[in-house]
Amino acid sequence: GLIIPGGESTTLSRLMSIYQLREPIEHLARQGKAVWGTCAGMIMMAHEITEEDPIPLQLLDIGVQRNAFGRQIDSFEQDLEVHGLEPPPFHAVFIRAPVIIRVGQGVKVLAALSDGRPVAVQQGHLLATAFHPELTDDTRLHRYFLNLIPRESPAPTE
Ligand code: GLN
Repeated sequence: GLIIPGGESTTLSRLMSIYQLREPIEHLARQGKAVWGTCAGMIMMAHEITEEDPIPLQLLDIGVQRNAFGRQIDSFEQDLEVHGLEPPPFHAVFIRAPVIIRVGQGVKVLAALSDGRPVAVQQGHLLATAFHPELTDDTRLHRYFLNLIPRESPAPTE
């Protein structure tokens, strides 16, 4: 599996082009390997975004708006009910986060904000979250992702 982390999607997009990583990542996803994008990583996985730059990888059939909640200072945390996770709710950390504005057929919404806007989705072996699960001690989403990894993959060596 591959996790495309948060950060800055314009930087990710440029570096992916410079280091010719687009084709290998697209290939990996087409092969059925599990891919998870968090925050800027989710932007990179989108089919389309509301701006011309960055250029997404178009792995997941979703439309995304960057910086949907405002500037860095408008970052926030919210408890979310996540489909497929046992209670309690997942404490989600949103850092200058994007939001999903279009969900294609075949894309399952795993979590949404109280206003109904989706912030976690899954399409088969592809997962995207607008928030940063690595910033809490809660490993439930990481475990969820591990279950999307094809069984025949060799276990990583130490
Ligand atoms: N605002 C960033 C972007 O648009 C994403 C921020 C993040 O990954 N925490 O790329």
